[in-house]
Amino acid sequence: MIVIFLGPPGAGKGTQAEYIARRRGIPQLSTGDMLRAAVKAQSPLGIQAEAIMKAGQLVPDELVVGLIESRLTEPACAPGFLLDGFPRTLPQAEMLDALLPRHGRRLAAVLELQVDESALLARLDRRVADAVAAGLPVRPDDNPETFRHRLSVYRDQTTPLIPYYAARGVLHAIDGMQAVAEVSAQIDRVLDSLS
Ligand code: AMP
Repeated sequence: MIVIFLGPPGAGKGTQAEYIARRRGIPQLSTGDMLRAAVKAQSPLGIQAEAIMKAGQLVPDELVVGLIESRLTEPACAPGFLLDGFPRTLPQAEMLDALLPRHGRRLAAVLELQVDESALLARLDRRVADAVAAGLPVRPDDNPETFRHRLSVYRDQTTPLIPYYAARGVLHAIDGMQAVAEVSAQIDRVLDSLS
């Protein structure tokens, strides 16, 4: 089962993808995590991505599609995988559409986590406070100014994916304003109805 998580930054995509991945025994492929690992390792890709990410902008489409393609042939991805933070632009979605059949794979569902924008900044404050309290590093792009920019990038570049996937009959809206467990339960119901 191949599932895409769509939603603005701070909507809870990562949290929900992690839960569903554990429950269904399939990996979560987060392009944000892969890019952060590349930055940490200071690989050529990481060096290229670092400033772009810090500014809250998008890394070039070909680079992230390459990251996904290199992972989806891994044996762990054979039963399926969850895409968290990818695709983020129409060209990425189109490249994914071309890529999956080449590997004999098919997209099962796109889950759109819907949240009020006003709640997102409050969530960001909480995420930063939690990281500080746990003695964890705060993401360099988790500050109000960059976060607002990431939101506008989502609005401009990623929301066109909503009608794109709706037209393909794979889009499912999820009310992301509920408690975390409620959101998970709603996602489970959608995925159970597909299998
Ligand atoms: P995330 O952890 O998903 O919020 O991603 C953090 C940052 O990584 C984003 O603000 C982008 O700079 C970059 N990034 C992650 N996924 C993508 C993607 N699919 N396309 C382009 N840039 C991405």
